[in-house]
Amino acid sequence: MVKAIKESGGLINLKLQKCNHCNAQFTRGEINKSLWLAYRPIVCTQCGTKHKVLIASRLLSVVVTVPFALLGIYLVNNYNQSLLSVLSIIIPLTLLASVISPYLVRYSDDY
Ligand SMILES: [Zn+2]
Repeated sequence: MVKAIKESGGLINLKLQKCNHCNAQFTRGEINKSLWLAYRPIVCTQCGTKHKVLIASRLLSVVVTVPFALLGIYLVNNYNQSLLSVLSIIIPLTLLASVISPYLVRYSDDY
């Protein structure tokens, strides 16, 4: 597990993942698609190697996402904010998260 993280360039280094096999650069779109499809494995377009998301990355994305969700629930409960005004906070944060996430997730072909 630790080895897999090191091979994929460290858990948090804000670089888009490359193929562990042929070093082809994955695009943000490819990674985002994988994320939105519940961490579907990425298949390298160059060499066809299948990469699965690391469990540590899933945990990291939960750690990043959950505080936003809790913030939303907190605002609705305590400040009597309308759902709409809470959504106007949560949606930009969600979009921001989806821009940042591809740089945070790490994949490994070592399963
Ligand atoms: Zn490849």
